[in-house]
Amino acid sequence: MQCNDPKCPQHGHLKVRGNVLTGTVKSAKAPKTVSVERILVKYVPKYERYKKTKSRVYAHNPDCIAAKEGDVVIIGETRKLSKTKCFVVLKIEKRAFEETMVSERQSEGAKEPEKQEKRHAVHEEKPRVEKKHSEKGKDAKHKKVKK
Ligand SMILES: [Zn+2]
Repeated sequence: MQCNDPKCPQHGHLKVRGNVLTGTVKSAKAPKTVSVERILVKYVPKYERYKKTKSRVYAHNPDCIAAKEGDVVIIGETRKLSKTKCFVVLKIEKRAFEETMVSERQSEGAKEPEKQEKRHAVHEEKPRVEKKHSEKGKDAKHKKVKK
């Protein structure tokens, strides 16, 4: 897929140099921009333990890549592209929308029959309770007979 974006590393005139990072896309709402979150582990000397920290980096998202929320992406450092962006999305490692689509389908398909089953179960439970009472009564009678 081609794109006319001059800030595209493949189809434009953009040099990628410096850091190459991986992270998950947390927001893709701004045009041609994604916010990529990375979870880092930092050592705390006072407690001699590690703590998790988060870092968010804004990256340019060319039309030919079009990363979406939840995707795991590789971003590369470039020149300053705007006030907040100095990274470009190079590649999508793992797409998120396939998993979410499947889970949505399953939840939509499963919700309706579950409700119906529950309703039926509620109706069926009433006679069962009566049976249990009668059984208990029988048991009690048996016990009384045995005693
Ligand atoms: Zn492109």
